[in-house]
Amino acid sequence: MIKTLRTVVLAGLVSLSPLAAGAVSTKKLNVVASFSIIGDFARHVGGDRIDVRSLVGANGDPHVYEPRPADVRTIAAADIVLVNGLQFEGFLRRLIEASGTKAPVVELTKGVQPLKSTEQAHNRERSGHHHHHGDYDPHAWQAVPNARIYVKNIVDAFCSIDPPGCTTYETNAKAYDATLSVLDEEIRATIARIPPHKRVVITAHDAFGYFAHEYGLTFLAPEGVSTDAEAPASDIASLIRQIKRDKIAAIFVENITDPRLVQRIAAETGSKVGGELYSDALSRPDGPAATYVDMMKHNASTIRKAIAPDVP
Ligand SMILES: [Zn+2]
Repeated sequence: MIKTLRTVVLAGLVSLSPLAAGAVSTKKLNVVASFSIIGDFARHVGGDRIDVRSLVGANGDPHVYEPRPADVRTIAAADIVLVNGLQFEGFLRRLIEASGTKAPVVELTKGVQPLKSTEQAHNRERSGHHHHHGDYDPHAWQAVPNARIYVKNIVDAFCSIDPPGCTTYETNAKAYDATLSVLDEEIRATIARIPPHKRVVITAHDAFGYFAHEYGLTFLAPEGVSTDAEAPASDIASLIRQIKRDKIAAIFVENITDPRLVQRIAAETGSKVGGELYSDALSRPDGPAATYVDMMKHNASTIRKAIAPDVP
């Protein structure tokens, strides 16, 4: 249904375009987002004035992304590049250099209060040497108040390179920010329905530190804040002991990672996988997390249903 509608709209645009090109000389802003969640923010702010491309698309894992030659061309043609920062996009620097782009590269976590990376603390204790990830957890978008900061940063960035569009960007962002404010309240209300002592969740990697901090849950994961290294067997064993001891029932796979480790942990602890959480990427358009707002609602309600199915 949605697909059919989109095809019709596209066909309409194509047939109109010679006329439109003659009548209006505005060229759309060419925006490149490092991954799908930022692409969605940009679309809400930019509306019709921009074209957005996300380098890492639906269900993609930005931690281990290998750029393709087409990405170099995409960046070379960009008017502006929007990224997360906090050393999330390890693939980006080489790509920017290879493209020779002069477009501004804007880090959207500017102004966010970053959380210390738990993995970092972990690794220092364990091995005594420095790990190559940042000192901070990069997954700041998992708390809605931070998403509102990302959106504000996008408005500032768009206004600075396209001043005539600034009023439009500000108007769009104001409406979207109101939606995000409602979303934030909804998530708080959803989590409030889970008894506090049951708010412990197992996922594949440490992507939900900001969600945990903001909404009052504990997340445990066999993998750290990145997905680029296998979880040590000793960590998996101690997590399994903890799940059994504390009778933790909420175990989730993630859309961006191989589900097998989580499935094995569930099997070994006699728990059931409670569903799929969206961590570092949106779903495809026909999935349950095609936008950031849908993703956050889906995650909160999936967690609530798994832990407290009987709570009204
Ligand atoms: Zn991640």
